[in-house]
Amino acid sequence: MLNAARSARRAIPSLDRLLQDPAVLTLVGVHGRARVKAQLSAALDAFRAADDPAAAFDQPAVLQTCAAALAREAAPSLKPVFNLTGTVLHTNLGRALVPTCAAEAAFTAMTRAVNLEFDLDGGKRGERDSHVEKLLMELTGAEAALVVNNDAAAVFLVLNTLAPKREVLVSRGELIEIGGAFRMPDIMARAGCKLREVGTTNRTHAKDYVEAMGPRTAAIMKVHASNYAIQGFTAEVAEPELAALAHERGLPFINDLGSGMLVDLAQWGLPHEPTPQEAIAEGADLVTFSGDKLLGGPQAGLIVGRKDLVAKLRRNPMKRALRVDKMTLAALEAVLRLYRDPDRLVRELPALAALTRPLVDIEAVAARLRPAVAAAFGDAAAVTQVAVKSQIGSGSLPVDLLPSAALSIRPAGKRANPEKIAAQLRALPVPVIGRIHDGALLLDLRCLDDEPEFLAQLQQLKN
Ligand SMILES: *Cc1c(COP(=O)(O)O)cnc(C)c1O
Repeated sequence: MLNAARSARRAIPSLDRLLQDPAVLTLVGVHGRARVKAQLSAALDAFRAADDPAAAFDQPAVLQTCAAALAREAAPSLKPVFNLTGTVLHTNLGRALVPTCAAEAAFTAMTRAVNLEFDLDGGKRGERDSHVEKLLMELTGAEAALVVNNDAAAVFLVLNTLAPKREVLVSRGELIEIGGAFRMPDIMARAGCKLREVGTTNRTHAKDYVEAMGPRTAAIMKVHASNYAIQGFTAEVAEPELAALAHERGLPFINDLGSGMLVDLAQWGLPHEPTPQEAIAEGADLVTFSGDKLLGGPQAGLIVGRKDLVAKLRRNPMKRALRVDKMTLAALEAVLRLYRDPDRLVRELPALAALTRPLVDIEAVAARLRPAVAAAFGDAAAVTQVAVKSQIGSGSLPVDLLPSAALSIRPAGKRANPEKIAAQLRALPVPVIGRIHDGALLLDLRCLDDEPEFLAQLQQLKN
């Protein structure tokens, strides 16, 4: 027994000898010496630890396991997926896809020196937001603009600058939570100001604001009800009236739009979403909105409004902590330039293209793909084409759904479980993400643009 164990151990090659194996040298070429060495020595340690006298060291098998482990650890964690959830601006899947021109601008800004904070006319230090401020002013009609990391940061900066240790009035119907950690009351607390709730959940009147106003009031704030709708017996105070109420007392009126589309969606048959230019025209002193929701750009928080207030925001040291990177500014500038030409916009802005994609188009995709998907699942599932509704997502227009087409993959058999099908599709090289509804996995095809890539990997489905 002991002797057999000793001889098996003697048969284990040394790490140095393994590193001379041609197959290992190939792995070193791909993954680098350090990682290959680490994997091999872990494999050798595991073999020694098992101390199984009967086991022989199977070098090809060990190398194969190491190669697979190296490939797994080399694969990027953040990778492309097919968003077939039916939610166009899916926060967990990265929200808006930026147009190619924006991605190219970001690439250039990342790989070359740029005049990020450098005034090329005067040769002196410049201001990073200057690259988009004029465009935002032109597009929204505001006097000034500023950019931070996202809309949550925009709201934070505005409150922290205008209302520290003072009260901000918000209707109880607008005390929203947006996915996970963004709750308006929490942001207010962190920004150092006190939330003064006004009215009731379903009804808030002008007199509620008037009664709540006092010496400690710093501002009135309106929060766009992004991801929900209050219906039935409701009342809210319109923006121009809120602006007038605030201005009578010399207070600023802040409007947090969330999505903030810069053009009227109604021109493409979509429901109207309030625009920053409307909010400015209705008397808001500062308007905040996201860069990667309906705007269709990179993650960013945009603040437009009164010049004196924006100057104050810029002087807040928190601006430095919340500022955006050059790649964001480059992509944002490119997207904002598209908005100067709305005809190009609908062709080139992926978010808008997906939202305006004709139903017949999506249905044709479903009809084309159905046989291949059915063949890939064989007897394991029934695949049919069904009518569904897509959502805009990211809290935009919560009650408006867009007619779309999907493939329904319904597992066959007694222990049929759509979760299993969802997991199989998630395990593909380019994971396919659908949604489960009523015992079937639905693949909403509105956002599928690369059919060949989708089809090519179907053969890899393991049933
Ligand atoms: C989405 C949203 C936010 C947060 O925006 P992010 O860009 O995700 O930080 C804030 N307010 C409203 C009304 C929103 O809809």
